[in-house]
Amino acid sequence: MAKTKTLEDAFYETLKDVFYAEKQSVRALKKSAKAAQSDALRDAFETHAEESQGQVERLTQVFELIGKPARGKTCEAMQGLTSEMESDLEDFGETEAADDVLIGCAQAVEHYEIARYGTLKSWATKLGYDEVAELLGQTLEEEKKTDALLTEIADQASSVGGAAVEKTGKGDKGSSKAA
Ligand code: FE
Ligand code: FE
Ligand code: FE
Repeated sequence: MAKTKTLEDAFYETLKDVFYAEKQSVRALKKSAKAAQSDALRDAFETHAEESQGQVERLTQVFELIGKPARGKTCEAMQGLTSEMESDLEDFGETEAADDVLIGCAQAVEHYEIARYGTLKSWATKLGYDEVAELLGQTLEEEKKTDALLTEIADQASSVGGAAVEKTGKGDKGSSKAA
């Protein structure tokens, strides 16, 4: 039998993938918020957890607009990313590197989402689903904004609180050795 699968089919399959992944990301963000040490990072995770809940609802709207049932399909990529996060939390959760490691894990998730929503938005436009493309574009912007905020927090972390003191301390030791 000839293969008759279309871009429309790929679009639906990828929507199911991201529907599953988005729900997983809500859980991961809640867990990350609990593990975060700085207030800024905890806030960022809590805010994006709420936003992501909205993204799940936005996806159910998308399924409705294309007239197909809202279903999830196991996303092995997101499963892999969240299981890496679990083991990183075990290894670094109680250390001075905890926040940096958490940001690293969260950005891996955001980048996956950016890749997926970018593709889906472009496919939606190609398939003539303008309203769907608009909705996916809104989510895409939220993911990009979150990614940028995490970079900002990561870059600031070295100049606030204990981390800066410790780094200065190490620097001093180094220079006194050199002297
Ligand atoms: Fe998301
Ligand atoms: Fe996936
Ligand atoms: Fe996200």
